[in-house]
Amino acid sequence: ESVKPSNFLRGIIERDLAAGTHAQRRFAGTPGDAAHHQTGVLDPARIRTRFPPEPNGYLHVGHAKSICLNFGLARDYGGVCHMRFDDTNPEKEEQEYVDSILDAVKWLGFGWDSEFGGERVSHLYYASNYFDFMYAAAEFLIEAGHAYVDEQTPEQMRANRGDFSTPGTDSPFRARTPAENLARFREMRDGKHPDGAMVLRAKIDMASPNINLRDPAIYRIKRATHHRTGDRWCIYPMYTFAHPIEDALENITHSICTLEFEDQRPFYDWVLERLTESHTLPDGRVVGGLLAHPLPRQYEFARLNLTYVITSKRKLKQLVDEGIVSGWDDPRMPTIVGLRRRGYTPEAIQLFAERIGVSKADSWIDYSTLDIALRDDLEGKAHRGMAVLDPVRLVLTNWDDVMGAGHLEPCSLPALPHVAEDQQPPPARQFTIGREVWIEREDFEEVPPKGYKRLFPGNKVRLKGGYVIECSGCEKDADGRVTTVLATLVPDTKSGTPGADSVKVKAAITWVGVADGVAAEVRLFDRLFTEAQPDAGGRDFKASLNPASRRVITAYVEPSLAAAQPDQKFQFERFGYFVADRVDHAPGRPVFNRITGLKDGWAK
Ligand code: ATP
Ligand code: MG
Ligand code: MG
Repeated sequence: ESVKPSNFLRGIIERDLAAGTHAQRRFAGTPGDAAHHQTGVLDPARIRTRFPPEPNGYLHVGHAKSICLNFGLARDYGGVCHMRFDDTNPEKEEQEYVDSILDAVKWLGFGWDSEFGGERVSHLYYASNYFDFMYAAAEFLIEAGHAYVDEQTPEQMRANRGDFSTPGTDSPFRARTPAENLARFREMRDGKHPDGAMVLRAKIDMASPNINLRDPAIYRIKRATHHRTGDRWCIYPMYTFAHPIEDALENITHSICTLEFEDQRPFYDWVLERLTESHTLPDGRVVGGLLAHPLPRQYEFARLNLTYVITSKRKLKQLVDEGIVSGWDDPRMPTIVGLRRRGYTPEAIQLFAERIGVSKADSWIDYSTLDIALRDDLEGKAHRGMAVLDPVRLVLTNWDDVMGAGHLEPCSLPALPHVAEDQQPPPARQFTIGREVWIEREDFEEVPPKGYKRLFPGNKVRLKGGYVIECSGCEKDADGRVTTVLATLVPDTKSGTPGADSVKVKAAITWVGVADGVAAEVRLFDRLFTEAQPDAGGRDFKASLNPASRRVITAYVEPSLAAAQPDQKFQFERFGYFVADRVDHAPGRPVFNRITGLKDGWAK
């Protein structure tokens, strides 16, 4: 059990739990919303976080940080993390993305069910379920004098907003009465006005030094079919208005977002505070009291920037649409489906997220951090296997005399080099050696460079898990390229037999038998970009695409590797970690992806 490093968010949560900050939470009813009612029955002393993606694309490694953070905090403090779709912008959202996001979160090892009073409660929410509440909240703001319908053109609105050095100018529509605003807003809802003709704005302060408080829009007209509510609405709430309401309705305690929302926090608080107010209208009606204290609080952390990676959904989509990668799950993509196909494990990604921690300072994390986490995860559990990636045939010229023509000698090696004492070691790998084996081309040199310890005429090496052999020469084609390496078997030196150590050698090389080795497609991936910060400062990320980011070779693998299940991970001895491709690998047609090498640096 690892000790979780503390961070500022853990500090805040521990302080709030100690002070009972959220224990007073009451259930503020939401008309007609079944999902919300479920939150009312839960233990209010628990913390509640949420992961709120917009279903407009596939999740990437940056989202993984947010998932590990939000679900991880809830897990560590006995709380609950809500899986919520922030589906308030119908134009770009689709069910396909909803499904892929749920899949990704589950695959990463998190769930949204919790146990309360012996019952299982699902914490899967959709912001679109709150459209009625949001609409009612908007009408309340209008009646309370906190919102108005603005009919300025978008250009006028932009010009009148001012900038950081100039205060804004009040809209000529700002002084409308609540009754006028209400009538207009209902016309917006009822489809009486074209898209973009007017917006509902919060009435705050056109001179605020925080431009986000200069009467931000909260509702707009948009005729778009929503993936859940269909054509029921032609007006939709703006994200900055919807989000605090979603959090409040779900009794979220700690609403954690990335730093770019820091300037939005005053508006977040403004919306929630206003909705706790009650007003007695001139006609005697009492309106408001839609929310109750304690309210959710927003906290910001620095987003993940990972070197050699882009994490903008729009740019990732461009890579897919332009055919630069094979799809969202291309093993070079930083999407969660891409990382998964590449062979990264949920455990490695969680470990990575824990190690990078959370802070309030923007920084770049070196890509190697992810690979180190992967190696740390797989080192103790990925079965070993031998593969020859750049094969050349080696013939043992005395085999028939020593071992008998056609003889195949069984060999074995452990699947894992170290197994914890209380654990059952997995069955050993079985393979055979015969007259011919595949070896790496680089393991033979006709004229050895200084210090070379592998095969050259007159030198002895061990075929790992097999015999000691002595090199006698090679055969070449017309171009001088080595076609066959020749060697003789040194009898009685088989690994694991008493004679194994009778002949000392300086090197053991990896190999695969020609008789039982299986040809496999191996995809060697490398960074997609040659620049560490491919899109920083508005740089054209396509200018730094790495032309060698994908190389496909035919290798020979030992039988245990050929028998892999799709998605099974291995350490190919000396080469690094590989996974049987979850899409293309099949029995009899092995396909492997290289996840990462054994050490860091550019892969060779
Ligand atoms: P878009 O790319 O369309 O702007 P987004 O990256 O903001 O979208 P959302 O679906 O809104 O994606 O994000 C869901 C959650 O993931 C948000 O809480 C957001 O803060 C978080 N998130 C997104 N990118 C990162 C990142 N690089 N690092 C950490 N968290 C991130
Ligand atoms: Mg977003
Ligand atoms: Mg973004």
